[in-house]
Amino acid sequence: MCGIVGYVGHRDCLPILIEGIKRLEYRGYDSAGVAVEDGTGLKVVKAAGKIRSLEAKLQTGAPVGTFGIAHTRWATHGEPNDLNAHPHTDEKCTVALVHNGIIENYKELKAELEALGYRFESETDTEVVAHLVARYLVEEPDLLGAVQRAVGRLTGAYSLGVISRHEPGRL
Ligand code: GLU
Repeated sequence: MCGIVGYVGHRDCLPILIEGIKRLEYRGYDSAGVAVEDGTGLKVVKAAGKIRSLEAKLQTGAPVGTFGIAHTRWATHGEPNDLNAHPHTDEKCTVALVHNGIIENYKELKAELEALGYRFESETDTEVVAHLVARYLVEEPDLLGAVQRAVGRLTGAYSLGVISRHEPGRL
């Protein structure tokens, strides 16, 4: 069972996100990651293995910002490695997303998006959602509208946490 944590507020979010996923460690996981908007864009740091491996990566250049998401993954699609760890983003890193569960129709959605020119980095079912949200952000006025459109395309049992670099304070 994975863990999802999100923070939006006035405090430095990274320590809060890390503490949050540590509290969810008991659920079991194989990798962990964070995405924080640091004023210049979404910064994503991920590591296979324990949260201490993620913390080791964050020793230098840790992103500082007031909104972000974090995840502990229990892999269902794609091996447990850095690339498949969450958060996942679209190509332009406009949105970052964490996901618990399974997107059953991800293969069809991936084929559709690849035909439109979207490029995938991971083997996960999750990444299709990041690209779908990005695709609909072009047509929708805001993140909520794009997420609602994307979710309308998904089959499966899942929960999501999504942020956009252009919408501070929204999760
Ligand atoms: N199906 C997703 C993956 O394999 C999410 C797994 C989870 O719930 O942690 O990455």
